Amino acid sequence: MQVYKFGGASIESPERMSALLPIIAEAQEPLIVVVSAKGKTTNHLEIIAQEACNGDKNIAYSLLKQLEQEHIDYAKNLLPEKEFTQLAAELNEYFSELQWAVDDATALRFDYSYDQIVCVGELLSTKIFCSYLCSQGLKFSWVDARSVIRTDDTYRDARVDWAYSEKQAKDIVGKLLNEGFNVITQGFIGASSDNASVTLGREGSDYSAAMMAAMLGATSVTIWKDVEGLKNADPKQFDHTVKIEAITYHEVIEMAYYGAQVIHPKTIKPLQNNNIPLYVRCFLNKDLKGTVIQTEVSSIFYPPLIILKKNQILLQVTTRDFSFITEDNLSKLYSIFHNLNIKVNLIQNAAISFVACIDNNESQVRQLVNLLEKDFKVFSNDDVKLLTIRHYTPEALQDQTKGRFKLLEQKTRETVQIVMK
Ligand code: ASP
Ligand code: MG
Repeated sequence: MQVYKFGGASIESPERMSALLPIIAEAQEPLIVVVSAKGKTTNHLEIIAQEACNGDKNIAYSLLKQLEQEHIDYAKNLLPEKEFTQLAAELNEYFSELQWAVDDATALRFDYSYDQIVCVGELLSTKIFCSYLCSQGLKFSWVDARSVIRTDDTYRDARVDWAYSEKQAKDIVGKLLNEGFNVITQGFIGASSDNASVTLGREGSDYSAAMMAAMLGATSVTIWKDVEGLKNADPKQFDHTVKIEAITYHEVIEMAYYGAQVIHPKTIKPLQNNNIPLYVRCFLNKDLKGTVIQTEVSSIFYPPLIILKKNQILLQVTTRDFSFITEDNLSKLYSIFHNLNIKVNLIQNAAISFVACIDNNESQVRQLVNLLEKDFKVFSNDDVKLLTIRHYTPEALQDQTKGRFKLLEQKTRETVQIVMK
């Protein structure tokens, strides 16, 4: 059994969705297809959630109507009359779910409200996709990922209850596969123990695909993207990039951790733990070989892997009373970051100061600085970039930092990280 994951771009239009048919029809069965919301739906739903909670509910309702109409038009375009009529009734259920979620949305429980609204994007896209695949004679069954993926109630970044979810995956998805169905389900979403919808963090569908694969013992996962495979740097940010044919889990998890937006960072662990290879392939040209990510690769010569994280803030935290930054102060600092759920992208400490580079998320940073200022002096450099190069060469380093003002540099044998203006 294999898992295919299709992201929003691969189904952004009815033409794109129907172009995926040969890819799916040629796959070795059984197949689990994990799908994101179509196009930019999640961004639109985020705006609806913001309006519903903090803005104007009427704006939320009118945006919601637009989104509904878009999905209806999409489905109409794609499906024969009879299938469309049947599907439209099913989509209506989710439009109602969305409507209620907006009615109930409140700023007091923003994250909760966000998840009840945003999760609907994937439910709609998979309903349409399933109906399309069946109309083309493929044998697919639709599964609500919320009945499989059980999580805690950390809304917008839910943690998975692995044991329970695995049991559900076997009972529900495994059973369908045994009956000869292929399965289509949503990425990115799950449910808490009291049946509230949750999301797993933006771009979380890759992670969902990896979970399904690990829980059901798939032979491989393939993520279908609009690029030819994994590159040594983001082609949207850099001119000269090279495609990588094969790369280890370790390299990729490091890249994702440092901020490369190639694959959701949580995707690798379940695959590595179960030794399931991950392929990254191009849905625009299925004949390209793509990239394989696995335990070992035969040639371990990598080009410099370059990751540039923008919109960073560098905080310098100094003790007010000149006490040293040793274990007690460090643990105090870490617990502040931990409680606010802030990931530190780079750390350095000196005698009485501690430097951390984090994502410049305004409201989080404000809370953080308020807490830190109780015991420390805080100085910040806003709007800096964090450059990471794994397998750096002097040339690559020189190239990427030319004319830049460097605020901090950290080097190991393999990796260099620079915070720069
Ligand atoms: N639809 C979600 C997002 O846009 C999840 C995903 O695409 O992986 O973040
Ligand atoms: Mg996506």
